[in-house]
Amino acid sequence: MTKNFKKHLPLKKYGQNFLINKDTIKNIIKIIDPKTTETLVEIGPGLAALTKPMCELLEELIVIEIDQDLLFLLKKRSFYSKLIVFYQNALSFNFLNLFHKKKQLIRIFGNLPYNISTSLIIFLFKQIKVIQDMNFMLQKEVAERLISTPGNKSYGRLSIISQYYCDIKILLNVSPEDFRPIPKVHSVFINLKPHTNSPYFVYNVNILSAITKDAFQNRRKILRHSLKNLFSEKELIKLEINSNLRAENVSVSQYCKLANYLYKKSNNLLKIN
Ligand code: SAM
Repeated sequence: MTKNFKKHLPLKKYGQNFLINKDTIKNIIKIIDPKTTETLVEIGPGLAALTKPMCELLEELIVIEIDQDLLFLLKKRSFYSKLIVFYQNALSFNFLNLFHKKKQLIRIFGNLPYNISTSLIIFLFKQIKVIQDMNFMLQKEVAERLISTPGNKSYGRLSIISQYYCDIKILLNVSPEDFRPIPKVHSVFINLKPHTNSPYFVYNVNILSAITKDAFQNRRKILRHSLKNLFSEKELIKLEINSNLRAENVSVSQYCKLANYLYKKSNNLLKIN
């Protein structure tokens, strides 16, 4: 590990902060608890801090890496024969294809490059149907946004869309000292599990996304103003949603209710009283 670290100059553009703390690595593997029968995909194996111990427990591991130099180093490792390597941007990986090939749900994990972690999570939500769970190292501040609830500063569009799709748990706090180079931010390791019995339902998730976009354009604005292009005040009253609420005080269920009303309205499905 250290030997390899010396052979590679970490690239900031790929968010390369490599894990070096053995106890943290052990804890992460324990949390993921991989089984040989499962399909596991690692995003960004890097210098193999997680890849190597994973391969000790598995017969096959799929890895997606964007940096060719790192793949070159990976090729020299003893466990390389266990890897199925994709040299590509994880943001364009087709998990649906993989699911059809493997005929089972996919478990995704990784110490994510922080510069793309939010877009990557949103990208993965679009393929949620083929995902069993996701275990990620994230910047603490991003993880807090994922799990945040109404009334909190960090509550926003990302919280709503993430909680709509998944049950999310922070499982480990990780110090900057556990990485090389040392990042400026604190990290956490989290588990995202797609709901099996979802507490939320929407006909069309794009409508949910559009409503939250308008609402959070200015999070301090009251709904009556921020959603005026989508709902009349009368409609908000009918939906029992206080039009004086601010975006940051509206729950995920309430946003789903708004999305479903709009869906029905645009499809002429509303019952006329
Ligand atoms: N897993 C290693 C570890 O824990 O030490 C490396 C983690 S490092 C934070 C992020 C890794 O993701 C690097 O190997 C980096 O090259 C890779 N990476 C960055 N952007 C990527 C992308 N868009 N697609 C795939 N891999 C990417």
